[in-house]
Amino acid sequence: MSCMDSEGANSDVGIKVTNISDSDGYLSNPDMENFVDQEFMRAIGENEAKERAIEIPPETRRESDNHSYPQIDSTSTPAVNVSGQNSCPSPGTTGMPEVLVQAGWRMFWSQRENRYYFFNKLTNQSLWDMPQIAQAGMAVPKSPTGAAPLNDPLGLSSATTTKTASPDNKSQPVSLKRRSIDETWNGVSRNKQPKLECYWNFDINTDVMVMESAPCNLAPPIPEVEQFRATLTNQLRQHYQDMCHSREGIDAPNESFNRWILERKVSDRGRDPMLPTDCPVEVSPSMYREIMHDIPIRLSRIKYLSDARKQLFCYAEAAKKMIETRNTTAESRKQVKWQTEETFSWLRKEQNALLEDYLDRLSHLRRQCGPHLAQTAKNSVEAICIKMYHMARECSKKIFDKATSLLQLNKIEIPVQPNPTARLVPAAPTKMITPTPPLTGVTQERDKTHVSLTYKSEVMRINGKFMEKLELLYRHSCHDDPTMSNFLPRVWCLLRRYQTMFGPNQYEGIVLQGALPVPVFKCLHDIFGVTMECFASPLNCYFKHYCSAFTDTDSYFGSSGPVLQFFPVSGSFEANAPFAEELMESMVDHFDKLLAQTDKPLSFIVFVPEWRDPTPVATLHMENSRFKRKQVLIPAFEHEYRSGLQHVAPVNEVYHKSVHGTLLFFLQNDAGFEKWGPTPARLRELLSSFQPEYRTCSENLLL
Ligand code: SAH
Repeated sequence: MSCMDSEGANSDVGIKVTNISDSDGYLSNPDMENFVDQEFMRAIGENEAKERAIEIPPETRRESDNHSYPQIDSTSTPAVNVSGQNSCPSPGTTGMPEVLVQAGWRMFWSQRENRYYFFNKLTNQSLWDMPQIAQAGMAVPKSPTGAAPLNDPLGLSSATTTKTASPDNKSQPVSLKRRSIDETWNGVSRNKQPKLECYWNFDINTDVMVMESAPCNLAPPIPEVEQFRATLTNQLRQHYQDMCHSREGIDAPNESFNRWILERKVSDRGRDPMLPTDCPVEVSPSMYREIMHDIPIRLSRIKYLSDARKQLFCYAEAAKKMIETRNTTAESRKQVKWQTEETFSWLRKEQNALLEDYLDRLSHLRRQCGPHLAQTAKNSVEAICIKMYHMARECSKKIFDKATSLLQLNKIEIPVQPNPTARLVPAAPTKMITPTPPLTGVTQERDKTHVSLTYKSEVMRINGKFMEKLELLYRHSCHDDPTMSNFLPRVWCLLRRYQTMFGPNQYEGIVLQGALPVPVFKCLHDIFGVTMECFASPLNCYFKHYCSAFTDTDSYFGSSGPVLQFFPVSGSFEANAPFAEELMESMVDHFDKLLAQTDKPLSFIVFVPEWRDPTPVATLHMENSRFKRKQVLIPAFEHEYRSGLQHVAPVNEVYHKSVHGTLLFFLQNDAGFEKWGPTPARLRELLSSFQPEYRTCSENLLL
């Protein structure tokens, strides 16, 4: 939900504050009235209570009404009772079982929603539906995160002094006490309380039509299996590092393992949601390219003269050593030896060379030696890629066996994959058809800002607001878990999966999951009718409908699965792919085919880094695409991205200046161009939404 919307909703709850009904006798005891008033005020904060207490008829306002408890105004609410029958309900308790009344529940009218809600003065819980009565006393549909925006009309659950109703109905304080705002938000004042909801807007529905894809018959996420996947994948990472080190004398190139998975998934037809198991070619072009790039040594960015001199020397030395110690042709050995000797003698002579001289010399040496070194290392680098692929297959088999044996213990068979229908349907999250066994063992703890979910002593952390985001998505998209009993285990699996995929180290994966700024999304929706992201995760999505890498973990949270297996026929999309070349290339081919196949309005606004020298194939294809309507460059350092770790990062570390330019491409068929074409006025608006100062006030308050 966008920030504006959430504020709007707050002030629009429309609770009538009236005199307390004597006939009800509910608050006829002044002590009780006082208690409730204070509790309510404490629960929602005085200012907010005043905001909520709208439309108080002056004649019913008393001195103490600043602290009035919300109560049904039976004189002005529509005459509809809880069961929806037309009649004039008595306020407060009419139609409610005695046990609920005893437990502190009362019924109120919400003007905004035009329906009743329930509020418990003892526990400060609010619910849209009448609380359920369980055998052992009272049980209310409890929010797994402690805050259920969709079933917490007053939004009290996450920030109130909560008391549980014990079986004997005595209130018990629990640890979810209301924190002072200062304590929670590092001293930001009450009125400036950050609202991270402005990082998404789930009020937007999609009008995208797609060719219906088959439901997914992968094993459902199970914490024990996910933990096993993480262990095996981390071992795989370690093997990769060890092979690079022992065979090529280098560290595994940064993030190359992550890009390897992204690249492999482009052509993989296997059954594992993450690891490659059935690729037509064993050698991954991206892994091969990245290892080769760092042979004989990884060159870092050169800032100072001393760096340049040192790197030139190290490169020459490593090249010479490599050519002397490995099998290669006589010609390669001769060439490299000659070039490196010449470099050493130049270094000895030129003690006062300029930075440019060193840089020239280094690129000359690389040009001369590079092909010979690549030829020398070819077989062994290919062997690393092949070994990695086969190890991944073995891991995925072990993971599959573990999942199926756990499912079998619960008498669950993985169903046969149904064929896709050829129907045109509105876009929706992919359906998982393998039933989920009982999931247990995940517990949660909250601190000031984060929620920690623990499974078998392994803790996954997430910012509290993003936990609420996941809950919103789950309530919206998940249809097999009305009691939310699988919510926490599924969140744990989701967090575990993304960390497994993008790496265990701090800041790893940041660049592969960077998101566009919020005002850009807002503009894309308002002006270009965008309602879906082609590349997202439940953690970084802005819309509630999106494509993502993992159907099995993400579809419960709204994902329509990987974009390359998603076939829209009409609609407007934003596409900000992870910066992995083969995936970007396949994305462009995919969009091209989709655009060619329909005459309904279809539009993709694509964002790619401005890399040149060489220009990636994806960029070249878009530059020459017949569907390209416009291409725009946003220069480096003049715009920002949101961190790929926004769901755990402190709020002031969410936005980062982009160190590269960003290229925007409008790929549209004729109908798409007519409807959402990049007119100069629209483009102006979009470009200004990239300016950091364009952020909404409320978003700036976060920083
Ligand atoms: N949604 C944000 C951030 C995009 S970052 C935005 O559009 O600005 C790129 C995202 O693409 C990551 O979250 C990554 O997990 C996801 N991704 C990776 N492979 C994918 C695939 N094949 N299909 C869809 N999403 C994918």
